[in-house]
Amino acid sequence: MSSTSVFELFKIGIGPSSSHTVGPMVAAKRFATQLQSAELLESLGYVRCELFGSLGATGRGHGSDKAVILGLMGEDPKTTDTRLADERVETILRQESLSILGLKSVPFRDREHLQMHKRRSLPYHPNGMRFTAMADDDTVLLERYYYSVGGGFVVNEKAVAGDDPLKEDTIELPHPFNSAVQLLDICATQGMAISDVVMENEKRRSSDKDIRGDLLEIFEVMRQCVDNGSTTGGLLPGGLKVKRRAQEARRRLEEASGQKSSPLSIMDWVNMYALAINEENAAGGRVVTAPTNGAAGIVPAVLLYYFNHCDNANEDGVVRFLLTAGAIGMLFKMNASISGAEVGCQGEVGSACSMAAAGLTEVLGGTPNQVENAAEIGIEHNLGLTCDPIGGLVQIPCIERNAMASIKAINAAHLALGGDGTHYVSLDKAIKTMRDTGRDMKVKYKETSRGGLAVNVVDVPVNIVEC
Ligand code: SF4
Repeated sequence: MSSTSVFELFKIGIGPSSSHTVGPMVAAKRFATQLQSAELLESLGYVRCELFGSLGATGRGHGSDKAVILGLMGEDPKTTDTRLADERVETILRQESLSILGLKSVPFRDREHLQMHKRRSLPYHPNGMRFTAMADDDTVLLERYYYSVGGGFVVNEKAVAGDDPLKEDTIELPHPFNSAVQLLDICATQGMAISDVVMENEKRRSSDKDIRGDLLEIFEVMRQCVDNGSTTGGLLPGGLKVKRRAQEARRRLEEASGQKSSPLSIMDWVNMYALAINEENAAGGRVVTAPTNGAAGIVPAVLLYYFNHCDNANEDGVVRFLLTAGAIGMLFKMNASISGAEVGCQGEVGSACSMAAAGLTEVLGGTPNQVENAAEIGIEHNLGLTCDPIGGLVQIPCIERNAMASIKAINAAHLALGGDGTHYVSLDKAIKTMRDTGRDMKVKYKETSRGGLAVNVVDVPVNIVEC
């Protein structure tokens, strides 16, 4: 029985990827901290950081190299200054020297001390990392393996073995669940909404006042991300020359406000919210994993659809939306995966679509059964979705895909609210299908940029394909 917290699914971090940017930064910082607590900094000569599998294949496009360097310096994804990150990393690479936790300077040369193994993988998970601390005489002081299992979660080989990366969690919850059936059963027997169940569980870790405050802080970061993304123009970094579209979309929407609007103008707003967040993510800005960075636009876009465009929306609704979406995210994490490297994009955009559909259904007055129905619709029509980012960058198809999935989530909620909660395919069966489909999916469609759009779009600059 898992005890994942809603705050593990919604984490304030840095773009462009939760598994490839946030995870490596967390792992590198953890390794640096272990060096310090084992009192090895004094005898440290240099470190060797190796990224394997999907991290090795697409890491440079996802900013994994930058993340490792910042993590070794002691930076945290939640607090690092995203505007200064590139400059700081460039300085380190130019000076060929890095200060571990700001305490010990060591030589650091890209490709010598940071190696991307494009065709080698570690056992247990596609996103493997090995950090080795060496003395000046080349003896090994400390070696650690980490796995970035999606959504910014980082675990060691013991935790990830047996397909249960959450095995370490032991906290006792008042309302434990590991399936939608169990969750609905708790709701029915206790007379609770899904958000109530999650709130009661969260109260084992924190007070309801703090939980509410932290969820509203997450909402505020999401809103700020939309603001940042929709007021910045130009091209996205990485070499694909992808033009940012949210700024222009917002300008058009604001110009049209007060005029007779098109029946689809709300859809334009939702598209703009999602584009803004995912463009900000692609630019390495501050985003909230929801449940991952690649899919970070869907939950906020649908939440802002509720908050800005639905009658009687309020902050209580925002809190309930996020708690309900979190419950569905937990089910995906426990019973399938939220990692594109493990199950393709169905695990990222598919899970996020399902979560957003569930959150919206609850705040629009849906019963727990209708919420489960909406979540099921949200994933069912994303099954089989592959991950094939062009050039290894979280830009095409990722940015637009978030806009498409946001609209799909709203439709899923409305379809579910139009029924009575009874339906043919259960959410549990759809999640199991997603997991099985992910297992059958060829590796080239799982965040390696070796299949799909990534190889069929021929005018990608060669230097991008190499990463
Ligand atoms: S295609 Fe989907 S899973 Fe792959 S990087 Fe883009 S958003 Fe993430």
